Amino acid sequence: MANSEMKHSKNIAGRFYCTDPDDEGGEGCIACNVCYSGAPDFFAEDDDGNAYIIKQPTTDEEIELCTEQLEACPVSSIGDAEQ
Ligand code: SF4
Repeated sequence: MANSEMKHSKNIAGRFYCTDPDDEGGEGCIACNVCYSGAPDFFAEDDDGNAYIIKQPTTDEEIELCTEQLEACPVSSIGDAEQ
């Protein structure tokens, strides 16, 4: 589960968030490209390739798309405050 204490500083506030890389704990974004390729309207990459939220989903379809990225993230670096 994504660590809500380690949110990426560039996330747009709201339901979904990405976490910062955590070199010590082994959790956090590994810049794998999945989310910002799969849902580029909602996820972007910073200068290091780490993901953050650029827009919060509002419709059921958008939420489903973001949830798919959450489930596809290989290191559980995407969080949903409502889960
Ligand atoms: S899917 Fe996860 S690890 Fe990959 S870029 Fe997105 S947040 Fe980072």
